[in-house]
Amino acid sequence: MYPAAFEYFSPRTIDEALDLLERHGDEAKILAGGQSLLPMMKLRIASPRYLIDVNRVEGLGGLRRDGNRLVIGALCRHADILASPIVREHLPIMSDAANQTADVQVRNRGTVAGSLAHADPAGDWPAALMALDTTVTIAGRGGSRTVPLADFIVDAYTTRLGAGEMVTQVSVGIPPRPGGGVYLKFEKRAGDFAVASVGVQLALDGDRCRSVAISLGAVGATPIRARAAESLLQGQTASPDVLGKAQQLVREAAEPFADTRGSVEYKRHLAGVLFRRAFGKATERCT
Ligand SMILES: Cc1cc2nc3c(=O)[nH]c(=O)nc-3n(C[C@H](O)[C@H](O)[C@H](O)COP(=O)(O)OP(=O)(O)OC[C@H]3O[C@@H](n4cnc5c(N)ncnc54)[C@H](O)[C@@H]3O)c2cc1C
Repeated sequence: MYPAAFEYFSPRTIDEALDLLERHGDEAKILAGGQSLLPMMKLRIASPRYLIDVNRVEGLGGLRRDGNRLVIGALCRHADILASPIVREHLPIMSDAANQTADVQVRNRGTVAGSLAHADPAGDWPAALMALDTTVTIAGRGGSRTVPLADFIVDAYTTRLGAGEMVTQVSVGIPPRPGGGVYLKFEKRAGDFAVASVGVQLALDGDRCRSVAISLGAVGATPIRARAAESLLQGQTASPDVLGKAQQLVREAAEPFADTRGSVEYKRHLAGVLFRRAFGKATERCT
């Protein structure tokens, strides 16, 4: 199918992009990698009258370390994350997420910021980055603001972005050491969206959990932090008994809905199993 007719713009600066967004308001959409927006336009689920392609905007690309944070430009592709030595060394949970997102073609075009702005409940970036200290910077004609990811994603496919606003960067805190992170996903076919997914970011003090963050994807309208399981594990040695209780709390934290990918009970079960596997692997990765 062909998309509905639209007017196309290709601004070269953030200011130009923001001017266009302000002028066209709700009828305009930013085009980044196009890997979610274009399929939706072809299916006529989305029919923006104005398309603002930001791929030629100066200063939106790249990935850099700024002190204790990793700064991800709005045009940073899934493939850029996979190629980054900083990510491999300090944030392997992000390498996991990039590696399990779609296929090579999609990874070469799709962006991290676009995935967050799209806020698909089964998206891999919202789920994986929820286990980290992640913020999103939003720019509009009135200035910029930075919000935690947990506040940025409000509901399924719904974010705090207002008309006239765009994401300019995403920032992730580099986790303390010794620590390790893992993102695991269960999919029905290679390259498909998750049936359920789990991120675990762990910091150890000897054999005790100094801190642990557990995020769940595809089992709710938004990514979920399994706070009760995190509190249980905090300061504890992860014995099989403690982990079994944490697994039960992870299952209870999930709020899945039944669909073609599985029943509510199946998805809850998967969340628990993925948590146990991810926790074990995160422990192995602790350096
Ligand atoms: C075959 C296929 C398989 C896929 N499989 C997976 C998968 O397994 N897991 C997964 O997580 N995703 C998957 N995706 C989606 C893919 O990861 C997309 O790249 C991603 O969801 C959106 O990023 P994008 O840059 O392509 O955004 P676009 O498609 O360009 O935009 C998506 C939405 O975000 C908005 N947007 C984009 N950038 C900004 C910005 N800077 N500021 C404000 N709004 C912005 C757009 O206006 C639009 O509403 C798949 C896609 C395809 C086509």
